[in-house]
Amino acid sequence: MNNKEMFDQVSSMEEQIGQLYQQLGDLKGHIKELLKENHRMTIENHHLRQRLDQEVEQEATKASEKSDQSNVIGEGHDNLARLYEEGFHICNVHFGSPRQDADCLFCLQFLNKK
Ligand SMILES: [Zn+2]
Repeated sequence: MNNKEMFDQVSSMEEQIGQLYQQLGDLKGHIKELLKENHRMTIENHHLRQRLDQEVEQEATKASEKSDQSNVIGEGHDNLARLYEEGFHICNVHFGSPRQDADCLFCLQFLNKK
């Protein structure tokens, strides 16, 4: 290899190194953008998760309130049914008075309605 060839080769390597250096800079820029976006997404995800948790909690509270109410209604119905079994009217026609062993159509209707 003569001196001219050696000089050309070194020049070509220098050029390649220059191009690689530029590519490296570009890649670094992309990575910086990705890191920023990743950070933004992490924060957004955190906020969305918090909101989801809140809504799930609210739904659960609503659902448990609803089931409490239907339990109260069920309990009231059971109490009235027991009262009827014990021989008292629970209909609004004769409420609270003794049934004297006969079934009352008003009471039965009232019980079935519930
Ligand atoms: Zn009755």
